[in-house]
Amino acid sequence: MTETAALSVAVETPRYSAVGSLLDYACEQSLPPGTMVRVPLGRRDVPGIVWQRTAGAPPAPVELRPLAAVLSALPPLAAEWRELIDFAAAYYQRAVGELALAVLPPDLRKLDDIRLARRLARLQREPAGEARAASPARPELNEEQAAALVAIARADRPVLLHGVTGSGKTEVYLRAAEAALAHGKQALVLVPEINLTPQLEARFAARFPSHVMVSLHSGLTPAQRLRHWLLAHLGRADLVLGTRLAVFASMPRLGLIVVDEEHDPSFKQQEGARYSARDLAVWRAHRLGIAVLLGSATPSLETWQRALEGRYLRLALARRIGGGVMPAVRLVDMTRLPRDAQQERVLAPPLLAAIRERIERREQSLLLLNRRGYAPVLHCSACGWKSGCPHCSAWRVFHKADRTLRCHHCGLTERVPRACPDCGNLDIAPLGRGTEKLQEQLAALLPGARVARLDADSTRGAGVLQQQLGAMHAGEVDVLVGTQMLAKGHDFRRVTLVAAVNPDAALFSSDFRAPERLFALLMQAAGRAGRDASQAARSEMWVQTWHPRHPLYAALTTHDYDAYAAAQLAERRAAGLPPFASLALLRAEARTVDVARDFLQDASGLAAAHDGVTVYPPVPPQVSKVADVERLQMLVESPSRVALQRMLAAWLPGLHELRARHKGLLRWAVDVDPLAI
Ligand code: ADP
Ligand code: ZN
Ligand code: ZN
Repeated sequence: MTETAALSVAVETPRYSAVGSLLDYACEQSLPPGTMVRVPLGRRDVPGIVWQRTAGAPPAPVELRPLAAVLSALPPLAAEWRELIDFAAAYYQRAVGELALAVLPPDLRKLDDIRLARRLARLQREPAGEARAASPARPELNEEQAAALVAIARADRPVLLHGVTGSGKTEVYLRAAEAALAHGKQALVLVPEINLTPQLEARFAARFPSHVMVSLHSGLTPAQRLRHWLLAHLGRADLVLGTRLAVFASMPRLGLIVVDEEHDPSFKQQEGARYSARDLAVWRAHRLGIAVLLGSATPSLETWQRALEGRYLRLALARRIGGGVMPAVRLVDMTRLPRDAQQERVLAPPLLAAIRERIERREQSLLLLNRRGYAPVLHCSACGWKSGCPHCSAWRVFHKADRTLRCHHCGLTERVPRACPDCGNLDIAPLGRGTEKLQEQLAALLPGARVARLDADSTRGAGVLQQQLGAMHAGEVDVLVGTQMLAKGHDFRRVTLVAAVNPDAALFSSDFRAPERLFALLMQAAGRAGRDASQAARSEMWVQTWHPRHPLYAALTTHDYDAYAAAQLAERRAAGLPPFASLALLRAEARTVDVARDFLQDASGLAAAHDGVTVYPPVPPQVSKVADVERLQMLVESPSRVALQRMLAAWLPGLHELRARHKGLLRWAVDVDPLAI
């Protein structure tokens, strides 16, 4: 019987349009849900995914437009995948079709059925790894690791693997993946940034030579991304290593998810559907009834609180492999330096001496300064002019190498003026210090030393980053200056000194998560020192601070994450902040502050009726104007995640309507569980 059926299809409708994103079409075949199709929308053909057969009495099929094409070569996307999309779209307040299509490889929509079939046939013919590869050497597990693996195999909850850097977490991931693969399952490993940690990818590849491993991240070419995605979707790839977007990989035999450095902010998408890949990984694993492993030396407070409550299983790796100790932490009290040295504020003399000692011993030092460029601002001492950005509420940064003033928010780049643009004074000088200046100052202070720099500027261009990391590994660098890029998972074997040059600002940030991030960054930075157990005993982490008695530094000195987390959680509980409350931000952008504020105030009026949810007045974010666009945001808070979700779901349709009445509004968005406030 070939009766015409009605199918509801997920399509990418224009954002915030009145049409939903599940549209009904007529089809003569009964296509299974998850099938990729093309459908007419207005006067165009657009890609879509069959979401479900329309339930209940179908509307008269004559009214429905027929599908334009069916990509029958591609196996349908599984129910599990569609449920993940449904959940994520509902939770983060986006349209199903928008999210579903946004997370597929862009090239998938360019292929017609014939070309796709050809492509798939080619992939199926490829050999699946080296069939008879020698089994790779793997270390004997220590007691903690062995116990962790047993617990993981039995766990009925998400597992938090809490261990300092070098305690053998990655080895546990490898063994857990090995077990999943042995059961014929696929494993998904999520990492914050792949380019910075090529070693991790290499370790997985070396351990599983007879399995296909693919990576999924934004650095791939569109063709690579399609190829890798297809290999995962077909079940040909057993291992997928990827950044946050890989949480949406279609994996028909998924049996394990690992989230490495689970506290890392880069797991939260910052535009479009602002999802947390870590949280979705937990949801997906729960839904599938498979293991999920969250690893970190400094877990996010959300994860830590769940572990304390017993909702996650905490497994600890308390010691570094090889018995190496954590580096001794030395706080340099900058207020005690002689006045002139304070003015200059380069490096305190004892720190400089410690670096010199390292150079003599042919060991390496890392200096962390979270500000790139030469100086954050240029200043005219005659009239007070500063190098502000005309389009943003921010200073333009002085980059000495190419003598430019650059805005790090809108990108505006200009040659440094010869004289003060306001008064003509020739004597305009940099204020403050960025990585470029620190590198220059160090080179002057340490004649003969090889001082290199690692930040977003120094690593521009293909292959430059790998080359710089290579020089570091080869011992061709004595001192490496850089931004937080330095602290990521590098395994530099000769580093015995790490110093944070000026980390205090985060102690007093208006963002309540800033101290948590600083603590994680410093712990992670400390973990870069003494990776080689034979050198661990003389490894040091130095912190230059004007607030040496701050509790954050006290906890750092004793490497006491637990104490720090307990103190932070007590503060959060008292203040009614996450993880003891759920937050959402409504952001608005317009040419004028008034337009943005009017929209948010009307939005606030719509929200008034919801019990148990507090809507705060609109405030500007830290950088309130970018590229001549004013931004304003409004915090929505509730002690109950469920109440907040209910309120948001009821609020959103009203906001879509409201938007039509605020013509001047450029953009608005809801950010559920925002990371930066
Ligand atoms: P983490 O991921 O916690 O930083 P790794 O798994 O990378 O720790 O382990 C640190 C180092 O110790 C690596 O070089 C790793 O190969 C090695 N290693 C891990 N587990 C063992 C073990 N059980 N025996 C010997 N070496 C190990
Ligand atoms: Zn001037
Ligand atoms: Zn700007």
